[in-house]
Amino acid sequence: MAHGKVSAIIPAPRHVVFDLLHDYTRRLEWDTLLQAAYLADGYAVAEKGATAVCVGRKSLGSLTLKTVYVSFERPRVAAVKMVNSPPFFQSWAASIQHEELSASESRLTYTFHFTARPHYLRFALEPIMARVFAWETNRRLHALQAFFRRNRQWHEAAATADNGPHENFGCERCWPPDADAAWAARKGLAHEAELIDSSHFHVTIVACPNCRQRFVSVFTETIDWEGGEDPQYWQILPITEAEAATLVQHGAALTETDLDALGPGRRCLKRDYPRAAAPRVFWGNGIHIGPHD
Ligand SMILES: [Zn+2]
Repeated sequence: MAHGKVSAIIPAPRHVVFDLLHDYTRRLEWDTLLQAAYLADGYAVAEKGATAVCVGRKSLGSLTLKTVYVSFERPRVAAVKMVNSPPFFQSWAASIQHEELSASESRLTYTFHFTARPHYLRFALEPIMARVFAWETNRRLHALQAFFRRNRQWHEAAATADNGPHENFGCERCWPPDADAAWAARKGLAHEAELIDSSHFHVTIVACPNCRQRFVSVFTETIDWEGGEDPQYWQILPITEAEAATLVQHGAALTETDLDALGPGRRCLKRDYPRAAAPRVFWGNGIHIGPHD
């Protein structure tokens, strides 16, 4: 039997995380590794005894797991075990525990156990599968963190919207207080420098022709092999002359950590275009590079 454990600090209280995690109608809003997730056998809500089906993305082998909830103790712990027989898995079980850290943070710990098949290859398969599964779980938890960060920024921005902008970036033409107007104004910004140009991760510096304010524009895309409508995410952050110079100097060597470190708490325009939902433009803070292809 192989096993593994992955944990992450999620920027939300545990009951909120627990509720989102087991709400299958919302699963694809945050879980970037699945192409489908639903409760089965007539269950409408997750509870002890309920069964659920999760189908991994094609790039991850379309692995389909059907599980039954063997425990469901909101908001502390839930555990599931596999009831179907997908390739390579003889048995599989996982538990998800939540610890409250503060009013706005909790720790999620994901523990899994499985047995590989066929049994004569178990010694070779289990270490590899355990690594892949831990990697996948890590990515899933990062996606969950990113989801809560986006939402928190959105709520914080909405709460402070009445106070107006706190910084003097841009002019009324390139950086209006209304998020939708700012998104529309983006079309009028002039291209200044290309920093990263890969098909699913695109970083450029753009500038306002009116006031010369520079912005870093970050585009990330997650490939959805199924639908052809790939989830896309844009972020536009005003930057100082010095920051622009440093970014250009880094050029293609720029890392996601460099971008994440730019103007934390600075008002940043975000546009989220998830799969099967309308695009949403909103104010957030700083740049956060989530998972992307
Ligand atoms: Zn301007």
